[in-house]
Amino acid sequence: MSRLTGKTALVTGSSRGIGRATAIRLGREGALVAVHYAANTAAAEETVALIEKDGGQAFAVQAELGVPGDVHTLSLGLEQQLKDRTGETTLDILVNNAGETTATGIPFEEVTGAVFDRFFAVNARAPFFLVQRALAHLPAGGRIINISSGLTRVANPDQIPYAMTKGAIEQLTLHLARLLAPRGITVNTVAPGITDNGGPVFDIPEVVKHMASLSAFDRVGQTGDVADVITFLATDEARWITGAFLDATGGTLLG
Ligand code: NAP
Repeated sequence: MSRLTGKTALVTGSSRGIGRATAIRLGREGALVAVHYAANTAAAEETVALIEKDGGQAFAVQAELGVPGDVHTLSLGLEQQLKDRTGETTLDILVNNAGETTATGIPFEEVTGAVFDRFFAVNARAPFFLVQRALAHLPAGGRIINISSGLTRVANPDQIPYAMTKGAIEQLTLHLARLLAPRGITVNTVAPGITDNGGPVFDIPEVVKHMASLSAFDRVGQTGDVADVITFLATDEARWITGAFLDATGGTLLG
């Protein structure tokens, strides 16, 4: 038996990057995984295929977050497919991973209202209402894992709206942990540092060298480095951890 056999999981934004690596690990541990994505159907199907190749079970669910009706669309697709596969809509593990990001950032003076609102709609509002909708389906032993960023601990004036949304999701963790503990549900934050998600910036050696120097281990993170931490939190072994901030930055915050 694997550690998550019989469990169901939703990983938002798991067509690529940290989300994909997480979906693959949860699948390996025996969970039935909903691979959520916005637009990249081929990448989502590839994640599903990788999980199935490992002997796991998964399905894709599409919904753009940050637009009206986003959580309803995602939840309808999720609940329908869970019902088809398991006969019920129980969701044991919710990983709020999908995020609006900018690799290079935006100078403070150039941030528009539309840009600011988009960051909050995707990174803060959508997880808030996704959890609210999922509450009816989360059983005792349930897990909510919110993905933040080391940027809530290190100043970067070009990333202020993004970092503010990550501060917001850390607050969601703190207060939900108190609310949901009586139901036996844990809520935690995982904060990655710079993690190679396959984006173009990771093909530029001098940039990678600089990014690596920010970690105490002198390398950029791999998606699996973060996904292993998320997967641990999803298991029964992490049952006594709630409301926590897990630093998965490879020692970037040590200074
Ligand atoms: P990524 O490789 O850029 O992948 C983003 C994923 O989220 C994709 O599956 C994408 O779907 C989905 N997504 C993006 N915007 C969406 C939207 N509006 N609605 C629905 N889905 C959306 O991501 P990542 O770099 O692995 O980052 C994952 C999480 O870790 C994010 O919360 C990010 O803030 C956090 N983080 C990352 C780093 C890093 O260095 N990578 C560092 C700190 C924190 P499609 O494929 O369909 O576009």
